Amino acid sequence: MDIRIDTDCVIAGGGPAGLMLGLLLARAGIDVVVVEKHADFLRDFRGDTIHPSTQDVLAELGLLDAFLARPHADMPRVRLSWHGEELTLADFTRLPTRRKVMTFMPQWDFLDLLADAAEAYTNFRLLRSTRVTGVIHDGDRIIGISGEGPDGTTDVRARLVVDASGRDSDLRSAAGLIPVGVAAAMDVLWFRLAKAPDDAYPFIQAGAGMIITIDRGDFFQIAHVIPAGTWTGSEEDLALMRQRIARISPRMTGPVARVARDDVHLLRVRLERLRRWYADGLLCIGDAAHAMSPAGGVGINLAIQDAVATARILAPVLRERAPSARELRRVQRRRVWPVRVTQRVQRLLQRPLLSTPDAGTAMPVPLRFLRDHPALARIAGRFVGLGARPERLD
Ligand SMILES: Cc1cc2nc3c(=O)[nH]c(=O)nc-3n(C[C@H](O)[C@H](O)[C@H](O)COP(=O)(O)OP(=O)(O)OC[C@H]3O[C@@H](n4cnc5c(N)ncnc54)[C@H](O)[C@@H]3O)c2cc1C
Repeated sequence: MDIRIDTDCVIAGGGPAGLMLGLLLARAGIDVVVVEKHADFLRDFRGDTIHPSTQDVLAELGLLDAFLARPHADMPRVRLSWHGEELTLADFTRLPTRRKVMTFMPQWDFLDLLADAAEAYTNFRLLRSTRVTGVIHDGDRIIGISGEGPDGTTDVRARLVVDASGRDSDLRSAAGLIPVGVAAAMDVLWFRLAKAPDDAYPFIQAGAGMIITIDRGDFFQIAHVIPAGTWTGSEEDLALMRQRIARISPRMTGPVARVARDDVHLLRVRLERLRRWYADGLLCIGDAAHAMSPAGGVGINLAIQDAVATARILAPVLRERAPSARELRRVQRRRVWPVRVTQRVQRLLQRPLLSTPDAGTAMPVPLRFLRDHPALARIAGRFVGLGARPERLD
């Protein structure tokens, strides 16, 4: 059976950008359909960091209590351990936000929260298990998407198509929008580490490479930064990874010896963005417009802020008609600057993140400087916790 839906806005992708935009447009009275290829949000690890400015947006939406009722852990300061010597990299405690902490929450819980809030509006629809396969044109203008779902082909026509389908989006290339970027110097290995009841590790351990440890209650989610292109998934690579980790964190030697090759997932870091975020009838936001490096864990926050800016700029237009190219460009102009600044900083961070001096080496000068000047950690806290250009709802 084929399905045909007419709506004001169709959004490809129910990640942080797509669901937040769907929720905000529905709240503004716009008829909106979000199309998500998965049946639920329970998928691989995608990152957990919900920044103070995102929590302000949730508070403005009246969702903060519901957010805090879900499993989470708060971090007022990002701390780094250099062979046991600790320092603060980013301090959120003096931010002008309601909650002065970065909060860790499994992404599926966060997305469930947004989907539940959006589905309370009758003018919001989430089509799950439906993969967007292409766009529908009327001449040069994009007027909808076609997808494949459990009930067959689904055509959704709309005044605006938003591509929020993430960094591997096919939709944007169908509209001739190709990302440009710089080769990232690093990749990240992700895997789970067994956790005994009283186990604890510093959040960031550095000194001969870097390990980030997220405590997920009954296991640790580990991120280990490696030079780009060096992981082939072989037994030799695994042995090398174990050696490196043992040097950074001798206490992890035992648990990491039990990690198998298939348990290790490679994230190829990409640092890229579209030159133009829009085409006639189509706008790209979130990772579809700009893939970020994991440094600072800013991807979700930027995706949310793109959604907030998009809703603020386009909801009044969408209520009446299709947005013009000029109106779509306003979204890009608003959001491209924070993306550019953040990517610049992430590029600068690549080298220090990858530095692999021998264990025991004294703390490098930039870290000592940070340790001795706590005001810098507050500046970093502002940059990470608020973003370069925080967005408000109205
Ligand atoms: C391993 C890993 C760790 C990360 N760690 C962090 C972190 O700690 N903090 C942080 O802030 N960011 C982190 N990130 C980045 C962060 O997850 C992204 O920046 C953020 O999720 C971007 O949101 P988005 O909505 O733009 O895109 P996505 O989250 O990628 O969402 C896109 C959605 O579109 C759906 N989709 C894709 N194609 C189609 C299609 N054809 N049809 C229908 N649906 C489709 C996908 O299923 C997905 O739900 C991490 C990313 C990875 C991969």
